[in-house]
Amino acid sequence: MKRLFGTNGIRGVVGTDMTVDLALGVGKAIGSYFGSGPIAIGRDTRTSGPMLRDALVAGLLATGHDVVDAGVLPSPALQYFVRTGQFVGGVIVTASHNPAEFNGIKVVDSQGMELSRPEEEAIESRYFEGTFTLADWQTTGHVTVDETAVERYVTGILSHVDVGAIRARRFRVVLDSGNGAACMTSPLLLERLGAEVVSLNGHPDGRFPGRPPEPVRENLSALMRQVRESKAHLGVAHDGDADRAIFVDDRGEFVFGDRSLALIARDVVSRGGGVVVTPVSSSQCLEDVVRAAGGTVRFTKVGAPVVARAMYELGATFGGEENGGIIFPEHQFCRDGAMALAKMLEVLARANRPLSTLLSELPSYSLHKTSVHFPPEERDAILARLRTLAAGRRIDDTDGVKVYADDGWFLVRPSGTEAIFRIFAESKTEERAKALAAEGGSLLRAAMARD
Ligand code: MG
Repeated sequence: MKRLFGTNGIRGVVGTDMTVDLALGVGKAIGSYFGSGPIAIGRDTRTSGPMLRDALVAGLLATGHDVVDAGVLPSPALQYFVRTGQFVGGVIVTASHNPAEFNGIKVVDSQGMELSRPEEEAIESRYFEGTFTLADWQTTGHVTVDETAVERYVTGILSHVDVGAIRARRFRVVLDSGNGAACMTSPLLLERLGAEVVSLNGHPDGRFPGRPPEPVRENLSALMRQVRESKAHLGVAHDGDADRAIFVDDRGEFVFGDRSLALIARDVVSRGGGVVVTPVSSSQCLEDVVRAAGGTVRFTKVGAPVVARAMYELGATFGGEENGGIIFPEHQFCRDGAMALAKMLEVLARANRPLSTLLSELPSYSLHKTSVHFPPEERDAILARLRTLAAGRRIDDTDGVKVYADDGWFLVRPSGTEAIFRIFAESKTEERAKALAAEGGSLLRAAMARD
């Protein structure tokens, strides 16, 4: 069967893949999937947001659901609104970190968690087969607007951190909201945490005039420079829907997401142990610090919804990804950029040392990435041959094939969205990481060779 949902919801270019007709049909399919009860909807700052939201709302109303429009807000703020309210589910109109011409649709359950693959399939089959449960004139839904979601969300975050300790430090923070949904929440959060805020790209604008929405190093040179010039303690950047937070240290250096993840994991685990969940592609750095702090790591397939669901099922204490997506189960089971920011400030307040010093204490690894195109119809056969070729070695086949060496590992896994195998390799030195990536490449070529 055809698919609508990718690794993180439905995504596409507005006007070609992501049209009002699609949104209307998806709205009817979502409304037919959920049992009776109200559904919350929110969106990021994209210019196509109101158009797609209105089509989705029309579809939801047609299936008899009342809809509560929470306005422009981060994905995790809408997820928190759903989890703490009386909703059967929620819908978020966002394309996260993708460029301005994209938009997308995320669907969450009554817990605010992104749907599992079987739940997505149930919506897809309704969409493709047109099996909708339509209401009559008496049972058509109503829309109301609720503007309290942001306040509730920020209050929720503050209830999980030591506000007094953070406020006492009077942190100077450079915040790059990237003209995205973070504009609605992170300035407010930082104000409540007593921080002196230097703001970049702080007005909501779905054309993203300040920088592209993805918080990768090449998009954050202004932030790094501003942290240096302001002599700030911390810089932070969010993606378009603010479920991710990427940091810049007190020296203006970009902090890779696996390092901030490990730093916060060390803090969380050292105070209560427990299980930390992360995808198989994550750095060994995380497992090193979690073990040293008395916890254990469980690996999952790549994708934030998979990590969140595994955490929920395992009763994990912490989890996240290397891209700045961090999940705090005491708050909710989804990536949360503002919560990550508050926790980072708490870590800094408790340690009373600069971020650059704390990061220098973490084990350091080099990661090397490459990719190889392949014929998509041979995906499963290639994976099977990879497993056979790697037999006898220590492997993890949770997602693709990860092969461990004495001094590192390499992972060969098919991308969820493109016909490429991604090869990740990690070791203590860059040279050795490259060598392991090359080993992964030759194993993949051997698995792709026909005999
Ligand atoms: Mg995102």
